[in-house]
Amino acid sequence: MGMGMGTALLTIAQARVAVMAAARPLERECVAVTEALDRVLAEDLRAAGDVPGFASSAMDGYAVIAGGPDRTLRIIGESRAGAPSEDSVGEGEAMCVSTGAMVPAGATAVVRQEDVEERDGAVHLAAATRVGADIRSPGEDLRAGALVLSAGTRLGTAELGAAVAAGAGEVIAARRPRVAVLCTGDELRAPGESLGPGQIHNSNAAMLVAFATRCGGDVRPAVRLRDERVGTEAALAEALGRADVVVVSGGVSVGPHDHVKPALAALGVPEHFWGVNLQPGKPTWFGARDGRLVFGLPGNPVSAFVTFALFARPAIAALQGLAAEEQLDVAEAELGAPARRNPHREQAISVRVQRRGGRAIAWPNGPQGSHLVSSLLAADALAFIPPGEGDHPAGTIVPLEDLPR
Ligand code: AMP
Ligand code: MG
Repeated sequence: MGMGMGTALLTIAQARVAVMAAARPLERECVAVTEALDRVLAEDLRAAGDVPGFASSAMDGYAVIAGGPDRTLRIIGESRAGAPSEDSVGEGEAMCVSTGAMVPAGATAVVRQEDVEERDGAVHLAAATRVGADIRSPGEDLRAGALVLSAGTRLGTAELGAAVAAGAGEVIAARRPRVAVLCTGDELRAPGESLGPGQIHNSNAAMLVAFATRCGGDVRPAVRLRDERVGTEAALAEALGRADVVVVSGGVSVGPHDHVKPALAALGVPEHFWGVNLQPGKPTWFGARDGRLVFGLPGNPVSAFVTFALFARPAIAALQGLAAEEQLDVAEAELGAPARRNPHREQAISVRVQRRGGRAIAWPNGPQGSHLVSSLLAADALAFIPPGEGDHPAGTIVPLEDLPR
């Protein structure tokens, strides 16, 4: 499929279907839970035992047998967190307990420190005590065997806490996709380097490496390529040898200095599509060989960013087995201001999303030329504007896809 005259371009949705069809989950591995932040579970995680595993005190105070008001109980010892007492509590007795301590045998309630008067090795309880008061029962949080996290869940902060509480020391997760980023262009200089005539800083390298990292990729530093056939082909061959996902920016058009497509053809990477009916990002190329995915993204920074978000991001998520409902925070919002339609192409414009009561308003992020990297700043999401004449009026509901920062 190509962008030649008369060839219909794929819609964004069709292009994504093609990408997702080629993205198979990677093999699974065992990961120490301490290393598992942002990893995606490949198996359901169930509680190894009851959590809490024993009846424990919810308060600092005294474990007692529940009973009526106005009682004086003799203190017989102490049960601390991690240091239970072997004694049991009988009638007329109380045991000092701290929060999280195992409730001693015999006791049926805990009275809080502040609700008793302590004198001469005894405590006086003015009020009656109800059975079970301030005792956390076994399995109250999680029952042994209960499903805690399902396969396809990304492990965030709370998920890690729950996994460990549930008894996991390791989790089974998909391997992190190895991502190679290659930036083509004779004009590119490294970050911070001084620029000669006609040169620009290689902003795509930092941006795409960061984006792939945010997606859970295992990303090497970007490689810079001259606009030259032999070196381009060699670098692509090397990347295909080690990476699950190869992202190339620039050089994917048909100019005399665009060498990416012929190099990929020579390397036997079949083209799945070239050209999406999208602004920005029309000349996007996608192909796959032996399960390795290759994205040829346009060099303009906004195009590279948007096409990475639309095509490479869901693919990297799918390689990790991320559940569909976790993949993208898809929502919709009212356009806050009119957006000029493109007569032929669907647009993905960057917007800031403002919540107003129950409504979400998407404010287009200023002029959106594909070369205006500053137009991406502070964007929360991409909003989709269908092709057509004139303006998409303010108030129109548009679909959104969140963007990482
Ligand atoms: P290309 O897709 O190679 O034709 O490049 C399109 C435009 O994007 C040109 O203006 C390039 O200078 C610019 N460009 C290409 N690569 C990068 C990059 N890595 N960082 C910033 N701009 C780039
Ligand atoms: Mg170029």
